[in-house]
Amino acid sequence: MIEVFRGKAKDPKDALRATLATGYLIGKFAVDSPEGVAYPGNPLILITHAHCDHVCGLNTHNLDYACSGFCAKAIEGSIESALLCSHLGLSPPRRPPREVLSEGQVLESEGFSIEVIETPGHAEGALCFYIREHKALFSGDTVFGEGFLPSLSLPTSSKEALLESYEKLSNYEIRKIYPGHGSPFEAEGYIRSLIPIAKEFI
Ligand SMILES: [Zn+2]
Repeated sequence: MIEVFRGKAKDPKDALRATLATGYLIGKFAVDSPEGVAYPGNPLILITHAHCDHVCGLNTHNLDYACSGFCAKAIEGSIESALLCSHLGLSPPRRPPREVLSEGQVLESEGFSIEVIETPGHAEGALCFYIREHKALFSGDTVFGEGFLPSLSLPTSSKEALLESYEKLSNYEIRKIYPGHGSPFEAEGYIRSLIPIAKEFI
């Protein structure tokens, strides 16, 4: 039911391209739009946050997307400090979302629903997407595996906000995490274990 799509590295030695984000197709939805990812069908793309490696694929297809209000402002206004496009050597998308998403909103699909959770910290306006029926979390760059924290030194990052986001997420029953980079992993109790690590950075 969940298919994984990775941005295509143009040159395997190109470290930047190798870090391009992972996209996921979930029924009639997809999560993020990394460069080089073409989703089959006509999914509505749910954007986790404004960083260019997650959104610049919007340049190359006509699929509709939905994102947070801040992310929409960053994309529509091409706010470099929020998009990091020049930093990543990519081009910003230049069209508005079909829908602006906010905390608690539920997107219905066949057999499951996707809940929107606001999780600022790595980036302002960041969202995670939770499927209660599968205890699955699509975490963007908010949660990575193996105890790694996301970058918190970027222009719209906030360490305090990340800690609050982890505290919020640890109230959800999450068995599997689909991160914005890398492979999905089993994650029961995992986010709670990140809280002391995040606290050390504050
Ligand atoms: Zn990011």
